[in-house]
Amino acid sequence: MDIVKIGVIKMKQIEELVGKSYMTCSACMSVWADGLSWANAHTEAVTTKLSEADNIIVLSCQVTDLAVLSDLRTIEKYHSMFPEKNFFISGCLAKREDVSLPSFAERLDTPRENYQFITNRRLVNFEKPFWTPEFSEQDSDKVDGHLFRDMYPLRISKGCPKKCSYCTIRITRGDFEKLETSLLEKEFLKFDDILLIADSPTVSQIKQWYGIALKHQKPFSIRNVEPSVTVACREELNDLADKGLLKVYHSPVQSSNPEVLLDMRRPVNATLETMAIASELKNKGVYIATNIIIDYKNYSQDFSKIYALYDYVSWNPLWDGVWNRDKAEKRFDLYINSGIVPGEVERALVNCGKSLSK
Ligand code: SF4
Repeated sequence: MDIVKIGVIKMKQIEELVGKSYMTCSACMSVWADGLSWANAHTEAVTTKLSEADNIIVLSCQVTDLAVLSDLRTIEKYHSMFPEKNFFISGCLAKREDVSLPSFAERLDTPRENYQFITNRRLVNFEKPFWTPEFSEQDSDKVDGHLFRDMYPLRISKGCPKKCSYCTIRITRGDFEKLETSLLEKEFLKFDDILLIADSPTVSQIKQWYGIALKHQKPFSIRNVEPSVTVACREELNDLADKGLLKVYHSPVQSSNPEVLLDMRRPVNATLETMAIASELKNKGVYIATNIIIDYKNYSQDFSKIYALYDYVSWNPLWDGVWNRDKAEKRFDLYINSGIVPGEVERALVNCGKSLSK
């Protein structure tokens, strides 16, 4: 997304709400974990029963128009069931002033409580992922839409320390904030199947968590590790993999085509090296995952190398960042409802002999 008019708008704070809130999340695990941290610190203010709620809060995403549409459909669904309640859009979409919300919904700043143990993961409902209409909670963690979902979300930072002009994260997720690694050690030890939650983990964070995993001989999974960070941590990641201390590793490559990467203003060499590192980790038993952007401008891309290498590939169609509900509804039908795999993905799957994993 290149030019999007987004701004800092006045939003309600969760402390201003009166009565009990039902919280539900149609966003990613970063936002879900934020909501859970607040809900676990304020159990008296939340309810898991819709009928008992005074307020219904939808934690939302804005990464594509498909995600925005899913957020709006989610809040509309609850509004049609309980029109008398108070409705709030929180999470990332709340920060997009260029996207009008339904008249019945107010914007709410994303609630979070640093260093809060998340002992009850049911306090914030996690909506089914909109991109897998056939999703079932009972399926295994390797089935589409399930990756990371059942892991313990340990919040280590939010936002991104970089200031790339084209990226919306510094607005939608706010200022970069790093939690003190040493203060998270008890939480790391208390829970199983740890997933480190960050929008963009830094080199120093990964090196610190490498030390903690080694010290306690306890594995973790991690996501959203940018290629430049992956490259800078090659030695530590390989050592973790050698010792069986790295379970799932996710680094978004977006494309393996140098021309496309340049056009996206993403690092070509670091991305290609990240794929080589992913291959090393995979050979040592790490489950490796990535993201790609499909239908990127007029480029005809070949994703077969990515599909052949990675265990799990998520795809997003390019969005110009301009919200238009009619277009979004049509794109939703095309990409999600039709059941037809987009051409580039289908070709890649055929070429590498894999079945679809979105
Ligand atoms: S951080 Fe990105 S993916 Fe997660 S909810 Fe916000 S916009 Fe969506």
